[in-house]
Amino acid sequence: MSLDTVFHVVDAAKSQGCRFFTLLGGEPLLYPDLWAIPSRYSDCYFQVITNGLFLDAKTVKKIRELGNVTILVSLDGGATSNDARRGEGVYARVVESLRRLQREGILFGVATTVTAGNFDEVLSDAYVRFLCRLGAAYLWYYGYRPVGPNSSPELALNAEKFIGFRQRLLTLRRRHPIVVIDTYWDADGRAVCPAALGLGFHIGPAGGVEPCPPLSYAADFVETNRGVFQTIDQSEFLRGFQNFARQRTRGCVILECPHELADFLETTKGRDTSGRSLTAELRASQACPSHAVPESQIPEDSRIYRFLKRRLFFGLAAYG
Ligand code: SF4
Repeated sequence: MSLDTVFHVVDAAKSQGCRFFTLLGGEPLLYPDLWAIPSRYSDCYFQVITNGLFLDAKTVKKIRELGNVTILVSLDGGATSNDARRGEGVYARVVESLRRLQREGILFGVATTVTAGNFDEVLSDAYVRFLCRLGAAYLWYYGYRPVGPNSSPELALNAEKFIGFRQRLLTLRRRHPIVVIDTYWDADGRAVCPAALGLGFHIGPAGGVEPCPPLSYAADFVETNRGVFQTIDQSEFLRGFQNFARQRTRGCVILECPHELADFLETTKGRDTSGRSLTAELRASQACPSHAVPESQIPEDSRIYRFLKRRLFFGLAAYG
């Protein structure tokens, strides 16, 4: 996406009151114009999601100078678990980056994917204590989604594990001085799909307005000579996806009905923007449970998280 298109999106979102944006996809720290975005919008706050391998001293100094950037670094457990998924030696490099961020006083978080393999480890008090000692201000949990060419279905969470995941989140929130984030459940413990509810959307590298980051499929593209919200509001593709998803589950249609989702996508005017073949990948996936477990709705038991989930957390803005 050109820098002008990014500015066009941010200007449009700002005109609607948005002040928080997430920059993700590929590896944003390799995007040469990345810092031009927060630099231009000093009245907005930007979250950059990174693998943590490119946070050298110069980059961290730049982030500190900008003052309106928070870094979210991926880490999936200790050295053994993390490197099994992300590559040999990655854990040590990421921890070094986190220490650098801490030394420079930068607000940062850690994004951790919960799998059947690292479940006990990454939801343990010891893991969260370790991140607190490293200076992480927030910990963002994702459940593993086995979609894509190198997916591992055996690492997906089953319904029992999703219930355990939810219970552990509540416990960790009570016990540790770190903000524990999930986008799976609302304040009353009901499952949420932000894309189905129209609370968020993803703008891909080609400017495609997509339902969410893992669903790289778009029929409508942001153009600098057309209003961004006009593009979104008039997108039959997005409305169609929302209806499709809402009619099937409160959870994740990617996990629960991948084959039907592939069929649906192919009936739309959208096109694949993944650079792979999203529909082929969905067809090759097995349906599995998602975070919607209606028989076990566990409300937030902390007043502050109830407030955050009701007032602030959902509907963050645009991200791309
Ligand atoms: S479709 Fe799945 S991954 Fe996308 S926003 Fe909904 S729950 Fe999240």
